[in-house]
Amino acid sequence: MMKYCPKCEAVRDCKVEPRAETYPVRGEEIEIEANVLVCPICGEDVFDKELDASNLQKVYDVYRAKHDLLAPWEIRKIRERYGLSQRGMSRLLGWGEITLHRYEAGGVPDRVHNDLLKMISTNEGMARYIQERSSSVPREEAETVRQSLETVETPISLIGTFEKLQSFYGVSIKTGFRVIDIERLRNMILFFAEGGVWKTKLMKLLWYADFVGFRRNTCSISGLAYQRQTYGPVPEHFFTMLDAFEKEKDILMVEYEDNGSILIYPDGKKAALSIFSASEIDILQYMRDYFSSFTSGAISEKSHKERAWLETQQGNIISYDFAKDLSMQ
Ligand SMILES: [Zn+2]
Repeated sequence: MMKYCPKCEAVRDCKVEPRAETYPVRGEEIEIEANVLVCPICGEDVFDKELDASNLQKVYDVYRAKHDLLAPWEIRKIRERYGLSQRGMSRLLGWGEITLHRYEAGGVPDRVHNDLLKMISTNEGMARYIQERSSSVPREEAETVRQSLETVETPISLIGTFEKLQSFYGVSIKTGFRVIDIERLRNMILFFAEGGVWKTKLMKLLWYADFVGFRRNTCSISGLAYQRQTYGPVPEHFFTMLDAFEKEKDILMVEYEDNGSILIYPDGKKAALSIFSASEIDILQYMRDYFSSFTSGAISEKSHKERAWLETQQGNIISYDFAKDLSMQ
């Protein structure tokens, strides 16, 4: 590293050397292996700002580890967990803003501050802190924390995620003019899964039911958007869909190791058909009976002869417009 050596009064190609050094921190000597820049000609130490800062950082790291104190990034994480700025967090804790700023920039927290930060690092701890000091804690910051506590405690469910993904197409020809209806879908799946149904077959049963529903009533039954895939039409994000209904304890998925096929059963629940119209119930029963002896392969093959599948590009959403050309009515 080319650096000016004050002793030689010349620029030298200085080398970094490791060296054991001790630094005082709060009256305690802390030993580290420091990196020092040395002039190759006169052997004198040459000051380098960056090396000096990283040595000091090392000293603090050793001191923190020894005394079980929080690291800067840990302190920042605690603050961000509750959606607070440095200023907001300082107000909440009753500290000067510079104190927190220093801790997050690499400073060593003092014992009392450290223990308070540790206490509020969990939701329970933070809730307790705010409750115990409800008279002195500033209202705005307390409200920010309360809101973040609520969102942390109620994460979005998988079924909510699936609903959101499917809602993307709204009320359109891609959803059969119905916004995705999780309750209807849930009961369609429970109905078709009674006694066990192969995953691939279930996808096709849902598709035929929805498309025949659209053909008869100009409205799909579930509001699902279907995608053209190799094995036929499938609900978009169907992996998420199945995982979500399994998490909701609606269905059980049993994988058969010999061929990787998945058999789906209702998880002790029965379909509630009262959610459907008489015409829709008729369609569901028609589908179940018509395809009762079909294997997954046979129903896939049938779907491959539909214009809906033939004329939609791989991966694209299948328009309900194709319902009028369906081989079933
Ligand atoms: Zn020198």
